Amino acid sequence: MKRPLILNLLACVVAIAAVGQRTVRGQSQAPPDHPSVTVRGQTYTPRSILARNMGTPEDQSTAFPPHKIIGNIYYVGTRTLTSFLIATPQGAILLNTTYERNVPVIQKSVEQLGFTFSDIKIVLGNHAHGDHQEGDALVKQMTGAQVMAMAEDVPALEAMKPGGKPHPIDRILHDGEQVSLGGTTLVAHLTPGHTRGATTWTMKVTDGGKSYDVMIGASLRAPDRITPQILGEFNRSFVSVRALPCDVQLGDHGAQFNMQAKYARLQSGGANPYIDPAGCKVEEEISEAMVRAIVAEQGARQP
Ligand SMILES: [Zn+2]
Repeated sequence: MKRPLILNLLACVVAIAAVGQRTVRGQSQAPPDHPSVTVRGQTYTPRSILARNMGTPEDQSTAFPPHKIIGNIYYVGTRTLTSFLIATPQGAILLNTTYERNVPVIQKSVEQLGFTFSDIKIVLGNHAHGDHQEGDALVKQMTGAQVMAMAEDVPALEAMKPGGKPHPIDRILHDGEQVSLGGTTLVAHLTPGHTRGATTWTMKVTDGGKSYDVMIGASLRAPDRITPQILGEFNRSFVSVRALPCDVQLGDHGAQFNMQAKYARLQSGGANPYIDPAGCKVEEEISEAMVRAIVAEQGARQP
């Protein structure tokens, strides 16, 4: 009689501990602080990468000073969640609406730069997570813009319904397709792994009489557990991203391209710090190193 009782008690304690763990994890969403990888002298863990990307709740919703990045690309996002306005003579493209609550913040930044929010004709995104594309429905409501999304991200976007609003999708894109407005063309590159339809955008800009390749990268941040399917997607994406032409690298979080430091250098004049071909692929290197380290750790844990 004694043994089953002790076993029952043990099972109970384990169950309570497991529930407690899940609750803490669910609230904080913090990924583990291992494995760690070092890329170009900087050490990262899954937790430090997420913290770097997101900052504080205040960072996620406070406007970063709106400014011209290069050519016809302008920054209109928050301190940590990027949003880009691509201005053309026939209206503008907005890339990443971020959280719905940030739409008025983005609108204010657009207007501070002298543009008209209702001139936004096309809404694009980097990947189907709420911190990048939750505001799509509201921006469409306010501007009548066409929302375009990579086919593989459509199911995740359709599940995103702030305030019950259905997620608008006016055009479904496929790998390599182009989006054009007023003489500007963006190319949609399927770079999955973080989401099924994560999209890296490329475009050309002219600035000071020179032409530059711009790459607006989607997050390649690994989930806690990498399935063979996700690994296959990442492997394909790493090859694709490394091959893309790039003089100016942007991304869905400012930390992916050192935006705060580049903006500070922009204020002091001189050459445009966003033109940085040597730094273009650092984020890909960090992401790939982390995916490989997580896979190795997962392998080591298997019996
Ligand atoms: Zn994401």
